Amino acid sequence: MNKRSPLQAYLTRVQDIIDLSPNLRRLVLHSPELTDYPHQYNGAHIKIFLAPDGQITPQLPQFSGHGFNWAEPDNKPIVRTYTIRNYDAQSCTVSIDFVKHGDTGPASSFAEHAQAGDILGISSPGGPNPMLKTASRYLFVGDITALPAIESLLADIAADASGDVVLLLPQAEDLPASLPLPEKMHLHTFFGDLSQIPAVVEHISSFAPLNDDDFAWVAGEAALVKPLRELLRTQWQLPPQRHYAVPYWRQGENEESYHEARHRFIDKG
Ligand SMILES: Cc1cc2nc3c(=O)[nH]c(=O)nc-3n(C[C@H](O)[C@H](O)[C@H](O)COP(=O)(O)OP(=O)(O)OC[C@H]3O[C@@H](n4cnc5c(N)ncnc54)[C@H](O)[C@@H]3O)c2cc1C
Repeated sequence: MNKRSPLQAYLTRVQDIIDLSPNLRRLVLHSPELTDYPHQYNGAHIKIFLAPDGQITPQLPQFSGHGFNWAEPDNKPIVRTYTIRNYDAQSCTVSIDFVKHGDTGPASSFAEHAQAGDILGISSPGGPNPMLKTASRYLFVGDITALPAIESLLADIAADASGDVVLLLPQAEDLPASLPLPEKMHLHTFFGDLSQIPAVVEHISSFAPLNDDDFAWVAGEAALVKPLRELLRTQWQLPPQRHYAVPYWRQGENEESYHEARHRFIDKG
């Protein structure tokens, strides 16, 4: 029986490093403790805990009803949010796909320089469960940070699901060769940087509006999510329970500086 409380943190070690594409690197993380990891579905999000500069092992938090408690508040790790791409109970591993966007981000830097044996803390999963509602028609939109979640959700969706998947990826080579796309779902791809966002939004605006039986899932850079949430809510009149529209990052801000604004945006309801 799992004696752990629902929210827990684990120290893991990098077991495998897989370059999926020019901009995406998978780290397969192992710990014997992951045998009873409370995993429910791939695509859920987790916190990762990175050791501060000069340290090897990050401090792990205790969880309270209101967030983290730290035994050593002056020695907190760097905390970031990522997606469970895969959990394997037999091998006691969790896989995370990291966007390699350079050394300015501690998480990106960890992934770019990772070596087998490096230590990373991870939390148990959080977020809405299930993340997807059963729907007549689906719309998935995301940039490369949302690709791990979109791939995970598509892999679990009904084989006869229909709808559209719209991806904005840095390069054509970042598109997975084996995207698990159900037959009745259509893929729309845009390649390039954030300057492509207006074209993506315009393209989606030309789709037939979703209705209350449908479900939209949108994540990525804030400037992509904001106009699309507006489209879903104001123009298409889609009720909040029929869409997920969450900014995963904002250009020019790190996760700490964007934290409050991100939550205000999400909580706006
Ligand atoms: C629910 C959720 C799930 C997520 N899942 C994933 C995931 O599976 N894989 C993933 O790679 N990311 C994912 N993200 C996004 C990730 O948390 C952010 O990109 C985060 O800022 C990366 O941390 P960092 O330490 O690398 O950079 P930070 O220290 O946060 O930022 C440093 C600088 O880099 C910029 N920056 C941050 N992210 C990017 C980026 N992707 N491209 C270009 N510049 C960037 C910032 O604007 C800032 O200027 C997820 C976010 C959320 C909220």
